[in-house]
Amino acid sequence: MSAARTVGILGGGQLGRMLGLSAIPLGIECVFYDPAPDAPARVAGRHICAPWDDRAALAAFAESVDVITFEFENVPTASLAFLAGIRPVRPGVRSLELTCDRIREKEFLRSAGVPVQPFAAIATDADLDLALATVGPHGVLKTRTLGYDGKGQRVVRAAAELAPAWTDLGRRPCIYEAFVPFDREVSVVATRALDGSTAVYPLVENLHTHGILFRSIAPARVDDAIAAAATRHARSVLEGLGHVGTLALEMFVADGTLVANEIAPRVHNSGHWTIGGARTSQFENHMRAVAGLPLGDAGAPEHAAMVNLIGGVPDTAEILAIPGASAHLYGKSPRPGRKVAHMNLVAPSREELLARLERLEALARRVNRLA
Ligand code: AMP
Repeated sequence: MSAARTVGILGGGQLGRMLGLSAIPLGIECVFYDPAPDAPARVAGRHICAPWDDRAALAAFAESVDVITFEFENVPTASLAFLAGIRPVRPGVRSLELTCDRIREKEFLRSAGVPVQPFAAIATDADLDLALATVGPHGVLKTRTLGYDGKGQRVVRAAAELAPAWTDLGRRPCIYEAFVPFDREVSVVATRALDGSTAVYPLVENLHTHGILFRSIAPARVDDAIAAAATRHARSVLEGLGHVGTLALEMFVADGTLVANEIAPRVHNSGHWTIGGARTSQFENHMRAVAGLPLGDAGAPEHAAMVNLIGGVPDTAEILAIPGASAHLYGKSPRPGRKVAHMNLVAPSREELLARLERLEALARRVNRLA
């Protein structure tokens, strides 16, 4: 079977842009489908600007490419099924079905042998007491679908707070899960090729502010046993989903063990450091996987970090004046809470990385404007 030369990408945000940029040296042409006229990815390939349910535009898009992938996982299911009838979609529907609903996702993780905290589904008033009995009074209530960056969530600290929290979330179908008093948040980014081979990146340590990723450090400051367990869990998830492409498994480290939080079935913000920080970036490996090419080495020769720029960007010269730093602008107009760029950093030692990182974080804190 010959490798795909043209790849269609659903979504044209910054993830699409970085996928498209990584495809150029591989000789792969990208076509982006995104309803936004100013989609950041439009600089990296042809842009089809049409609504998600426009069958004629979807058909023209599918027919112009060899294979379809996505950088945005909330494409309507009916549109995805329609596209899958025309061209292969990688990763497949299983990866989306098992990760777009937080209950199904946790059940899948448990069945794949990845530890998860106690959880319960809430759909009616009658479920509230049972959920409290299963999970306890300290938990996090989240909508089952369409939540991201901490949106659609309420922390519950006492039994009496659960019912009001559910009302606050519009009494939508929810998951109530135990609060994990974590020491660190980590994620493992990994890619699976069409032939089933895998590439797993070093474990990443993440710091969130107001539910949005602020910075990542790789490799994470954890015991070797935890890093090895994370790699095993990533492989189980890739295999269990039959995934083709890159994904991220987000986890908590609590009491010296890992507890899985969620799966992103696509390239992920906590893998942005791999541009320049790893021998092959998460974006290039994703493109290689979906095009049917062999994967590249996911190893990282140095210590690496990434800092997000949210709602503002400093002068590029200020970023580049820091040794080992690189700038990655998305071409988006800044607004509070909007991810507009990130800065990557490499250094030969952990100490040097942390010293340079202080300067990078200070720059970000000066310009970041959260919603
Ligand atoms: P999520 O949308 O599930 O990624 O959650 C956003 C952030 O909320 C996470 O990165 C954590 O910082 C926090 N969080 C989510 N679920 C839990 C939990 N069960 N226990 C503790 N913190 C949580």
